[in-house]
Parts: sequence; C-alpha cells; structure tokens
Amino acid sequence: MKRIGLLTSGGDAPGMNAAIRAVVRSGIYFGMEVYGIERGYAGLIEDNVTPMEMRSVSNIVQCGGTKLRTARCMEMLTVEGQKRAVDTLEKHGIEGLVVIGGDGSFRGAKVLSEQYGVPTIGIPGTIDNDLEYTDYTLGFDTAVNTCLDIINKLRDTMTSHERVSVVEVMGRHCGDIALYSGIASGAEIIVVPEIAFNMDEIVSRINRSRANGKHSNIIVIAEGVMTAEEFARQLQSFTLHSVRPTCIGHVQRGGSPSMMDRMLAAQFGNKAVRLLNDGIGNRVVGIRDNKIIDMDIIEAVSMKKTFNYELYETLQMISM
Ligand code: ATP
Repeated sequence: MKRIGLLTSGGDAPGMNAAIRAVVRSGIYFGMEVYGIERGYAGLIEDNVTPMEMRSVSNIVQCGGTKLRTARCMEMLTVEGQKRAVDTLEKHGIEGLVVIGGDGSFRGAKVLSEQYGVPTIGIPGTIDNDLEYTDYTLGFDTAVNTCLDIINKLRDTMTSHERVSVVEVMGRHCGDIALYSGIASGAEIIVVPEIAFNMDEIVSRINRSRANGKHSNIIVIAEGVMTAEEFARQLQSFTLHSVRPTCIGHVQRGGSPSMMDRMLAAQFGNKAVRLLNDGIGNRVVGIRDNKIIDMDIIEAVSMKKTFNYELYETLQMISM
C-alpha cells in the first residue's frame, strides 16, 4: 500500500493528535504517502484532503483536540454520501484509511470496508471508554484525570461547608468515567446508567458516613442518568445536608493527553499502519490485558459493552 488516508471523527478526545502523529510518522517510515482528511467523514465527502509530511505533525504530541478537526456527518449514513466518500478516496488514489473515533465512526469505517472494499483500520478515540473489545479507549485516562482534578477541589470546599457535592461527568450510555473518577477520587457514591439507583439507599450511605465522622460527600453521576442539577434537587428533598450540583462539561474533552493516552496513541497509530503495510484492512486496534491487539471491525462493533460490577462493588466497600 503506497498511499493511505487518515481522519478523526465523532467527539474529540485527548490523544487524537498524538495518534495522528504516530500514523503519519509510521506511514512515512514504511515509505507511504499519508493524506490527512479534515472534519471526519464530512471532509471525506467534501474532498478536504491534504498530504501530510513529517513536519506537519511536529509539536502536537502534547496537544488536546485534533489538528484534523472532527465532525458528526449525517450524510455518511446515506448511500449517496458513502459513494461520494469513496469517490474522494479514488480520486486521490488513497488505498487504505485510518479512522480515529468512537463506536459511530467505526460503523462508518465498517460500511466503507464491508460495502465498498476500502481497507480500513479503526483506532478507538473517545473519552467514553464504551467499546467492549478494548480495555481502554484513547482519551479516557486524560478525561478521568481532568475529573479528578475538579473533584479534589470540590472536596476541599464541600468539607469546609459540610456539604454534599453532586458532580456530573460525561457518559450517556456508559458509566466508566463516573466509575473510575468515583473510585480514584474517593467519592462515596456513583450513579451510572447501567445500575438503577435507589434514593433511600443513597441517603442512608450519606447518613452512615456522617455518623462515621465524614464532613462531606461526593456523588459522581453520569450524564446519561440525569443532570447533576436535577439529581441534587431530588436529593435535597430527602436530606437536611446542603446539596450542590456541578457539571464538569466539555472541560473533560480538552487538555494535554496523559502519559497513558500518549502511549496508547503511539502504539495504536503504529499498529494501524503496520496492518495496512501488511495489506490487512477491516480491523480495529485496541489494548487488552496490557497487549496491543487487533480484531475484525464487524465483530468489534457488534460487541455490547459490559459494566465492571466488581469495580462498582469495590467502591461500595472502600468509600465509606
Ligand atoms: P463519540 O463516542 O465520541 O461520540 P463516535 O465516533 O461514536 O464518537 P458518532 O457521532 O456516533 O461519534 O459517529 C461519528 C460519525 O460516524 C457520524 O457523524 C457519521 O458520520 C458516522 N457514522 C455513525 N454511524 C454510522 C453508520 N451506521 N454508517 C455510516 N456512518 C456512520
């Protein structure tokens, strides 16, 4: 394979730039030409394609966001849009495509590979950690660290005023950001879409912790359950402790990637290009049991994300 394309799609995630760098540099190492496609599938359909050089990706390993920018593109769901995307690839002689994005972006990649014969490789770039086939997605670690920084600060002021803090983190269907940031921050309670919550139990936990000498409580709630504001309003009617909501919001998506995300980006990007260089397409790369893996894209997108109940129980046992 002599010429490959690269795009970032869906929600942005810290580490996408480091992955772009790894793909471009690995491609050049193998003697390939690497073309950057701007604004995800929208740019592919609209022919926003430019060649990338060694120096196009200088000084971006530490940057959040994505140099190629990203978009959500409804046209890619239509046959007409898909055909235009394939036309762009053919026009530029692009023989293989690397797609950095989440579940939806992989579905677009699957269509290109399955229905139009374009060899594609998916790199999991999403803060949500909602893909079952990989232990971690790119951006998740940085997003959780951002949440930790904010929750630590909230703990300070909540303790001073003996309040209950309800902190809303991202995750519409997947509670992993809430689960990991809850455990790592010492939050007493997490509320996630995967588990129905019981307000009486939550109030009992708060009361028990206060009886045990705690002066504040942190409840981390995933956005898919309800807003922090709404949850705080409901909880306030069950308790005399003062309850304050905070929504962390889009801050979670930005910032310089953590060591872990930079390492994942380097390895995912390199693995993606190694596969294309070996003439292998229609795969996704990931990490499982600390090893970089690849698997069939159709299989990967059909897997349903499972929730780690053992980690949830761990939080219940140690955060009192
Ligand atoms: P995140 O997890 O951060 O939201 P994502 O990749 O899941 O990222 P989506 O908005 O779901 O984000 O998908 C990104 C883009 O992928 C869509 O805007 C669309 O262009 C394309 N896409 C999604 N689903 C399909 C599909 N079934 N067929 C073709 N293209 C798709």
